Amino acid sequence: MAKTKKTFILDIETDKLYSILKPFVKENYRVSQIIQWIYVKKILDFKLFSNISKDIRGNLESSFILRSFTDVIKEESILDGTIKYTFKTYDNKYIYAVCLNTEGKKTVCISTQVGCPISCKFCLSGKAKFMRNLSRGEILEEILYIENDIKERVCGVLFMGMGEPMLNYKNLTSVIKTLISKNEMNIGKRHITVSSMGIIPQIKNLANEMYGVRFALSLHATDDKQRKKIISNNFDTKITDLLNTCRYYLKKTKSRVTIEYILLKDFNDTSSDAHRLARLMKASNIVNPNVQVNLIPYNETNSFDYKSPLQVSILNFKKILKLNGITVNIREPKGLDIGAACGQLGQK
Ligand code: SF4
Repeated sequence: MAKTKKTFILDIETDKLYSILKPFVKENYRVSQIIQWIYVKKILDFKLFSNISKDIRGNLESSFILRSFTDVIKEESILDGTIKYTFKTYDNKYIYAVCLNTEGKKTVCISTQVGCPISCKFCLSGKAKFMRNLSRGEILEEILYIENDIKERVCGVLFMGMGEPMLNYKNLTSVIKTLISKNEMNIGKRHITVSSMGIIPQIKNLANEMYGVRFALSLHATDDKQRKKIISNNFDTKITDLLNTCRYYLKKTKSRVTIEYILLKDFNDTSSDAHRLARLMKASNIVNPNVQVNLIPYNETNSFDYKSPLQVSILNFKKILKLNGITVNIREPKGLDIGAACGQLGQK
């Protein structure tokens, strides 16, 4: 992070804090206490770190900042209580996060980049010009800000907001380490889902590094040409290779995989598409209870020509997958009235 002489403390991995703070914090247990104030108690002011000496607090205050966003706009859905946060970054960019309320439990959907280089044709985040990766601290700040705002811990984290998480891999995995650490944010790894349009080497790295988080593949099509039409920068990745990578992820992590499939009227919502998807999944040997297809009926915006699928097509698609033994779920849109639903982030 630039534009301030002080260092954004959330950008520093906690194991590195021990050496960085050494000049004015001699004992390691004191650093552990500081980490607790930051990530467990989520306190926003160094002055309130009450078991830390005044001198150390003074040093912390003159060297570091605890938060970086310069402004926040909060919008709450009257339909379902979903909250959308628009954060203004230190360099005057806007990013988005959403707090979803599912049976009283809070899950946050967060951004990993400013804009998105993948440019999916149905997604407002992809319309926003890609500018930069978010830092480790900025990604964590989205979650910490929301927890402070709603005054409760979040139970789950979805890396499904603005940006392609796998293109910001180093910061993504640094954040995951803090999320799952018992001494830091202590969120169950099974409650963390990383989505990707399909950067195969990084998906494999995520599997190999054994964080045990869930993975969601944004598939959205059943043949390569069709997929290229809606995901322009898809690195020419083949659907078969993507589904085989899902099998690799499952085998390595014993975690769950979701196939995300946005239904666009008369484009990819036909019976033939459903049958083809079932065939592809069978061929890649990923029809099993640990793999679920999430059908996402497209949310229309004024920015694109695609239309929402008819209810009859949605149900028909689901029925065909089910008859083929595939676990399938229709994702209810959340926060439609505030532009917080899937593909709407970026709408201002
Ligand atoms: S759907 Fe995801 S990958 Fe595609 S443009 Fe939107 S944020 Fe980027």
